[in-house]
Amino acid sequence: MSRPTRAELDVSALRHNLARVREVATGRRVWAVVKANAYGHGLVRVAQALAETDGFAVASIDEALELRESGVRKPILLLAGFFCGAEVPLIAEHDLEVVVHHPWQVEVLERCTLPSPIRVWMKLDSGMHRIGFPMGEMHNYFGRLAQSLSVAQPVNLMTHLANADDRSDTYTQQQLERFFGENLPESAALSIANSGGILGWSQTHADWVRPGIMLYGVSPFVDSIGADEGLRPVMTLRTRLSAVNSVPRGEVVGYGGRWRCPEDMLVGVAAIGYGDGYPRHLRNGTPVLLNGRLVPLVGRVSMDMVTLDLRGQDNAKPGDEVVLWGKGLPVEEIARHADTIPYELVTRVTPRVRFELV
Ligand SMILES: *Cc1c(COP(=O)(O)O)cnc(C)c1O
Repeated sequence: MSRPTRAELDVSALRHNLARVREVATGRRVWAVVKANAYGHGLVRVAQALAETDGFAVASIDEALELRESGVRKPILLLAGFFCGAEVPLIAEHDLEVVVHHPWQVEVLERCTLPSPIRVWMKLDSGMHRIGFPMGEMHNYFGRLAQSLSVAQPVNLMTHLANADDRSDTYTQQQLERFFGENLPESAALSIANSGGILGWSQTHADWVRPGIMLYGVSPFVDSIGADEGLRPVMTLRTRLSAVNSVPRGEVVGYGGRWRCPEDMLVGVAAIGYGDGYPRHLRNGTPVLLNGRLVPLVGRVSMDMVTLDLRGQDNAKPGDEVVLWGKGLPVEEIARHADTIPYELVTRVTPRVRFELV
């Protein structure tokens, strides 16, 4: 038998979460964000499950071409734009839409000749200060894109929210004021909202919403879990117990002896580790679900294994089901224990983990 470590993907949950986007952002069009291998869930399989979306948004042309090769005919948007001029003919050839966020990209578009013009989303910086044209330069560059023969008309407008993961943060409102304060061209379609915007600020919905993390059933907010937002978790990271051992009081467990047994106790070993994307810096006490009951992680996470405190679990035996996150144990909670966000945990599951659709 092979290693029992696997990531179960609930396809009906994916569909449910997309329906939840439509319910909250009624009548808006949806770019399903599937960058970074669909947040670690598998680009093509997620795209196939999300056939009801209006389009897909990715971070690179490689992802876009993989989608086209798998038969996706819907609109595909390159969220980070093109990284060099050589990508532009491919963008036209494969009928991709592209973010333009910098003057050098406008110059590339002005210089090139294409068989057909490409659809462009001009990215404006309303306060995130990562990529985008300063609001005050919008009219100048919008005018140039509107004149360019390489650009399909009308040019669309986009911005991105920096603090939408916190409903009580007033910066989102400030970003909206800067964005809408600029006398935007009426012809342009507008797109602002990520998952936080969709769920937290209806004023951000505009024409196209861009949900990422919520499609995967995970809350974008620091203080809630997916279920609180009407979402269902898509990924459940599972393994099995491979050993149950008695360890005497006073003995230490694992690398560095980070757990000392306070009494004679059972210690379980489960086949998951940082080689699978389960973070090494998770501490003693991180919850793990064993046969549907919460047990604490004890000792260092190693590459292929973790050790569990099985006090009170006298019936536990090798082969028993262990859930690291997902159904029954929200990934948001594990992310808090790992001092990170759930986005990082799901995105970093490694290729040796088997994915199974359920
Ligand atoms: C990743 C990304 C999104 C999706 O963000 P979530 O918080 O996962 O919903 C939306 N827009 C842009 C520009 C992005 O890069």
